[in-house]
Amino acid sequence: MEKKIRVLIAKPGLDGHDRGALVIAQALRDYGMEVIYTGLRQTPEQIVAAAIQEDVDAIGLSCLSGAHNELFPAVTELLKTRGADDILVIGGGIIPAEDVPFLESKGIRKIFTPGTPTIEIARYIERAVYERDGIPLEQPIEVEAIDHIGIAVRSIADCLPFYQEKLGFSLERTETVEAQKVKVAFLKAGNFHLELLEPIGDDSPVARFIAQRGEGLHHVALEVRDIDGQLRRLETAGIPLVDHRARPGAGASRIAFLHPKAAHGVLYELCEKKAEH
Ligand code: ZN
Repeated sequence: MEKKIRVLIAKPGLDGHDRGALVIAQALRDYGMEVIYTGLRQTPEQIVAAAIQEDVDAIGLSCLSGAHNELFPAVTELLKTRGADDILVIGGGIIPAEDVPFLESKGIRKIFTPGTPTIEIARYIERAVYERDGIPLEQPIEVEAIDHIGIAVRSIADCLPFYQEKLGFSLERTETVEAQKVKVAFLKAGNFHLELLEPIGDDSPVARFIAQRGEGLHHVALEVRDIDGQLRRLETAGIPLVDHRARPGAGASRIAFLHPKAAHGVLYELCEKKAEH
């Protein structure tokens, strides 16, 4: 199982602006981390107590008031006292470059200055936590099953008799996925699914596929859990992706395609089904 990294974002001291902290918190969530935000004007004691209680991997401190040289080391000191200095501490905010070596000497792992891309912060935290825990960063993704095989057809209506009457598939549902400009029919036999894809409009990717290669096998959909985490693993491993972020697929699923050049000509879809309640 992929480790869910937990991060506490905290605003120590008196400054009353947390736009930046909220942006970071959201970016880390989008990256797949669990983020707890303490709110404004927290004391180092409150921050450390919350970090231990929430069992976080990392604390992100943000300070705009100029008091970082007191507040940040107070947090790392308290963590040490409480035996929780395996929690990584990073900092950001308005911090002059000349203060960075001092803060680093006090156990703040890294200071991010304004304008650092949020993805860089997320990757840094991920790397540092994985390193601390001895988890290799490059891991294969975890596939649960083949969810379905996608077949490009000119007309669903024309090929339904073959699938239903000759192969014994039953039609589960049809759906139009406007974003993909396709009409989709889900067929089922046993616990196996086929997805027939019929283009709506000449600018549909499936229309282009048929124009170039004719009707036939279009993609293989692999069922995964935590599609965001799996995509990140592939990204980390340098696998070319069509979709760097999951997007809505048929049946309230979330999907993403790998680039066929990543897979020797096969188009793979990752598919995370809607959680069943
Ligand atoms: Zn599909």
